[in-house]
Amino acid sequence: MKIENLEGWGLGLKKPLVIAGPCSAETEEQLLDTCQQIKELGITVTRAGVWKPRTRPNNFEGIGTDALKWAQTVKKETGMYFSTEVGNPKHVEEALKHDIDILWIGARSTVNPFTVQEIAESLRGTDIPVLVKNPINPDLALWIGALERISNVGITKLGAIHRGFSSFQQTRFRNLPMWQIAIELKNQLPQIPLICDPSHICGSREIIFEVSQKAIDLDYDGLMIETHRDPDNAWSDAKQQVTPTSLGNILKNLKYRKPTSEDIEFITHLEELREQIDHLDKDLYETIAARMKIVDEIGFYKKRNNVTVFQKNRWKEISESRKEWAEKLNLNPDFMAELFKVIHDASIRRQEYIMNNPLEKVQ
Ligand code: PEP
Ligand code: MN
Repeated sequence: MKIENLEGWGLGLKKPLVIAGPCSAETEEQLLDTCQQIKELGITVTRAGVWKPRTRPNNFEGIGTDALKWAQTVKKETGMYFSTEVGNPKHVEEALKHDIDILWIGARSTVNPFTVQEIAESLRGTDIPVLVKNPINPDLALWIGALERISNVGITKLGAIHRGFSSFQQTRFRNLPMWQIAIELKNQLPQIPLICDPSHICGSREIIFEVSQKAIDLDYDGLMIETHRDPDNAWSDAKQQVTPTSLGNILKNLKYRKPTSEDIEFITHLEELREQIDHLDKDLYETIAARMKIVDEIGFYKKRNNVTVFQKNRWKEISESRKEWAEKLNLNPDFMAELFKVIHDASIRRQEYIMNNPLEKVQ
């Protein structure tokens, strides 16, 4: 796939790219006022949904083409670039006619190869930047497939938006981030600009900062954050939108760390520390090996004396003492409990093997 980096899009963009604007364009005044406030923060790309794919009917489904005229006003008044979602070739045609600068394909469209192919065909011959959101289901191949379909018609200004994945599970996220999928996308397509959409991952504005910071720490190329002048009264996604002032605070407080450093002192010290980690890991492995040896010995001993592998009282005693040790050593007791359970389960499995196999040998 031939993919341009952000600098090659010809819009003066660079990493980290911030795209901010309301979930939906509601009125011309709401859109313009919101964008003007966002512009004050030095942000050059705005967003607003004009056609809204809603989960259930009879909700606000967007203003449609009329709102694209408001987008033109925003562009003229603020000088910002405008991005919007397209869900079919008609949307693409209207968006292009109204000088929209960046298009994105929503999560509900990315799941459908017919839809993506139709959108792709309607983009043939243009070189507008296109961002592809991850599909709602955690399927990396489907996400990459959608990017390939857009790439195949000659679009090179291509980016990916990570907006999380649907789940029946109730969690603190509206859509599970499943970071490993986005990281794997970046491994497979290292040149693709990867943008995080914390708004749709979180579903509530309180955790947007935390998720944005995580994306920055994972070296994402940008963020798309839903921003509204009056989020509580927004016509869609009210809980997750932030005010332009909050957006300013989020951006101000984000910490940018370098992926690496050329500094020789830094490199030497890091090597020393990593050597210490290697030694400690070796000790850890040797300790586990020694522990397993004793576990086996106990297994044989129990077998000879016809005693059960698992003894409730012993487990209770073990959990309590280990919890105390974790606290004393300033280790997170939940993490240690989880780690210890894995070790204990493996020990039980070894003893079960000893009990049920004739040879006094463990595998
Ligand atoms: C949106 O960006 O407002 C939107 C509808 O997003 P998604 O496709 O991620 O649900
Ligand atoms: Mn939204």
